[in-house]
Amino acid sequence: MSANEIPLSRPDISPLEEELVLRVLRSGRLSIGPMQEEFERRVAERAGCANGVAVSSGTAGLHLVLLALGLGPGDEVITTPFSFIASSNAILMVGATPVFVDICPTSLNMDPRRIEDAITPRTRAILGVEAFGNPASMHEYARIAARHEIPLVEDCCEALGATSRGRSAGSFGRAGVFGFYPNKQITTGEGGMIVTDDPRLADTCRSLRNQGRAVAGTNLFTGDPSPMNTGTWLAHDRLGYNYRMSEVNAAIGVAQMRRLDELLAKRRRVADLYMERLLGVPDLVLPNTDEGDAFSWFVFVARLAAGYSRQERDRVIAGLRQHEIGAAEYFPCIHLQPFYRDLFGFEPGSFPIAETVSDRTVALPFHGDLTEREVDLVAQTLELMLQRENLSRG
Ligand SMILES: *Cc1c(COP(=O)(O)O)cnc(C)c1O
Repeated sequence: MSANEIPLSRPDISPLEEELVLRVLRSGRLSIGPMQEEFERRVAERAGCANGVAVSSGTAGLHLVLLALGLGPGDEVITTPFSFIASSNAILMVGATPVFVDICPTSLNMDPRRIEDAITPRTRAILGVEAFGNPASMHEYARIAARHEIPLVEDCCEALGATSRGRSAGSFGRAGVFGFYPNKQITTGEGGMIVTDDPRLADTCRSLRNQGRAVAGTNLFTGDPSPMNTGTWLAHDRLGYNYRMSEVNAAIGVAQMRRLDELLAKRRRVADLYMERLLGVPDLVLPNTDEGDAFSWFVFVARLAAGYSRQERDRVIAGLRQHEIGAAEYFPCIHLQPFYRDLFGFEPGSFPIAETVSDRTVALPFHGDLTEREVDLVAQTLELMLQRENLSRG
């Protein structure tokens, strides 16, 4: 990476994160301690849920929620093909089958009007994703899930801080799952969090993340200074996993949550700069947020106009990268990933809206510290690349 490079994303780490991490390192308690407890409380509160269960990644969180709901082989879960692959992989991890539903071309989320056609007697859950932090349609997913008496699981890994008509991302389903990889709104390095109002589901997830150990009461670890001595540490009730989050990671998360409003405001400022700067650029489709919904800005993804081919889009991205500007094709469709094609026989054309959107997206550099000058440089270079494509068409 050169000094001039504008990266696709960058975490926002302040002296507070350093201070809390140092405090953990000096405390002698590196796992299952007060940082996890505070982090869980803060994320759950922000999501409007009663319980938070910190885990080692967003993927681990989705895996545990689907296990805790009892999903397994023979069960179908309705989900979107336009997402990061983890949302659908979690369904495969429990042995269930993802049933994809095409997306809405404006929100880029699974189209609620197409869901009921995909429901069969084997449908056991809906796994909704807030693509790029857009909470649109979560109310509709919840209504459809209730009507069919199946749970809605919310993959809100990209949506911390988003709200839709006053309701917070994470609170729409039986459980929501956040992810804290370094490109997300907040990071813990690696990490995730399950949020839910259901205390039994939360306890099952707590047990599953901790080798299937029993959870005495609702909060074994925080009340007791040494869970090693409770007698339950070597008793395992079920097949469990080690999906715990360390205190070091949780400390980063606590600092990030204390700064959440600042972090979200910084990202919004950069998104506004992009919106203003790119509004007049021909051939670009900008992110669309529904009335009454508050986007939480995860990435800034522009789309090339309908006339552009996938090859032209790929050249635009390559051109940006040649100019040391981070850019990416968020997201390639999940159903066209090689192993999904092998497993299920999907071909191009299976989910045409997701595919045409996916063929034309360009994720631009996005983080809270981007300057107006950098946004302008990205926009100028993007304009140049689009002109080049137009010229080469003749
Ligand atoms: C980031 C993300 C996840 C989880 O990712 P991890 O890297 O496992 O934390 C899951 N679903 C979506 C849609 C994501 O963007």
